[in-house]
Amino acid sequence: MEQIDRPWLKAYDPDVPPTLDYEKVPLFKFLDRAAHKWPKRKAIIFKNWSITYAKLKVQSEIVAANLKAAGIRKGDRVALMLPNLPQTIIAMWGVLRAGAVGVMTNPLYMETEIVHQFNDAGVRFCITLDLLWPKLSKLRDQIPVEKFYVTTIGDGLRFPLNLLYKLQQKKSGSAPKVDYDAKAVLPFKDLTKGTDRFTEAKVDAEDTALLQYTGGTTGVAKGCILTHFNIGANVQQCHAMMHTLGKKRETFLGILPYFHIYGLTVCLVWPTSIGATLAPFPRYVPLDVLKGIDKLKPTVFPGAPSVYVSLLQQKDIDKYDLKSIEVCVSGSAPMPVEYMEQFEKRSGGASITEGYGLTEASPVTHFNPLEGVSKNGSIGLPFPDTDAKVVDMEVGGEPLPPGKRGELVIRGPQVMKGYYNRPDATADVLRNDWLYTGDIATMDEEGYFYIVDRKKDLIISGGYNIYPREIDEVLHAHPKIKEAVSVGIPHESRGEIVKAYVVAQEGEELSRSDVIGYCREKLANYKVPKKVEFRRDLPKTMVGKVLRRALREEEKAKLAQK
Ligand code: AMP
Repeated sequence: MEQIDRPWLKAYDPDVPPTLDYEKVPLFKFLDRAAHKWPKRKAIIFKNWSITYAKLKVQSEIVAANLKAAGIRKGDRVALMLPNLPQTIIAMWGVLRAGAVGVMTNPLYMETEIVHQFNDAGVRFCITLDLLWPKLSKLRDQIPVEKFYVTTIGDGLRFPLNLLYKLQQKKSGSAPKVDYDAKAVLPFKDLTKGTDRFTEAKVDAEDTALLQYTGGTTGVAKGCILTHFNIGANVQQCHAMMHTLGKKRETFLGILPYFHIYGLTVCLVWPTSIGATLAPFPRYVPLDVLKGIDKLKPTVFPGAPSVYVSLLQQKDIDKYDLKSIEVCVSGSAPMPVEYMEQFEKRSGGASITEGYGLTEASPVTHFNPLEGVSKNGSIGLPFPDTDAKVVDMEVGGEPLPPGKRGELVIRGPQVMKGYYNRPDATADVLRNDWLYTGDIATMDEEGYFYIVDRKKDLIISGGYNIYPREIDEVLHAHPKIKEAVSVGIPHESRGEIVKAYVVAQEGEELSRSDVIGYCREKLANYKVPKKVEFRRDLPKTMVGKVLRRALREEEKAKLAQK
């Protein structure tokens, strides 16, 4: 294997080993071990409901047994289309224990996205929420799902909150009607009831745990094959790099969606492995989060820059006690340094430490040391056993010296096996064991990395990934639009927002609200352009490709002048 310089090892704190002796076990062994070590500890708290580690283990065994009784076999695909709820955690452990493959699905997905993902993955069962049923039920003849298990928010509450929730839904008429039948549409309770416990499916660490969908560098949703070991290795690397956490009982705020790999590894599996209490939040409402922190006293708060910035913008932030938070882990987009400092001040000491990752790497590859030098503006140092280099994008992928910009490429045990059923796309990003990230980075002399740009067409707005090509396709389908292109432009609190540049068909009149209204019908809300600019033409390359980058640069220059 090619050897490279690892200047970052000198910057590690002395308690972080450069290489780890990995346990190669199925992921649910982390839960089993926590249940053995801390049986009475709260594993999850949600409003007035909680469950201990011992009970969570049993509950996941019951779910696995019920899935098996319902026909699920090793390797079968089960989609979890759920917001962050206790049921999501219970279902995920049950699915993995049964040896099935989890397909984590964004509840905000629109119909075409669900149809694509469920068919691509070959989903047999789907576990979902009643509020999503109106959307899913319409698609039944377009997706291969044989059985749906439907839960409600009330299932994760105890008396009297569960009753109040039902009454409130009834009063407001917001309770969706689910067409339960005994065969294909069943209540989630059917998976959690009974006493039959699962007898082990022979799950190997190298078996696929998740097909985790991402647009990767091109935007077409593809399933990353992540094995139990890929994710388990990342959990062990998180633990080694952040070894100061877990010495006492931690509580992890669960704001990042568990359906995204960042939420799943950093807010669910890793904290479970250190016996932390998980506090899931199904929706991100800044004021509820401030109240939640005040009440639940979490110690670790993984988030994205837009989350911390939006909390800072709450005018009542000082009313809430945020002092319990010791560590904020920020990833998914660059964290503006001035907000980092402000948050530290307003929260009474919680320091934000930045890391980096991507779905293809389960996800974390870089992190700033919690002990030792954390450099603001940097994504930090590669994890143990993770090699990273910056390579020339033009000339044969040659490694570049410190300070030079190039594509960030990564190698390590957390890197996926490939994209499911897509050998060409896999060959594009996985070359000689290296993962080509599509991010442009530099490395300094001490081995700290900095993301400076993105080669891939990706917009990250408020923590959500948006591929401009999908928006462009919607815009192009509008009968009055001749040409259009969407780009991500800088935005103070959301990191980036989508701006559409539109050229109308000759002789046609089109307004901003026509364009936005049209997009709203076809796209999930977070993808709808927030700004629209009409132009007579768009900047193009010699071969007629629209120069997205030129428009982005124009926008940055405008902002710099302000
Ligand atoms: P995903 O696969 O959804 O996790 O998205 C991964 C992408 O998020 C990366 O390829 C980067 O473009 C971006 N990203 C993640 N962390 C950071 C960070 N700390 N700074 C800048 N971009 C980031």
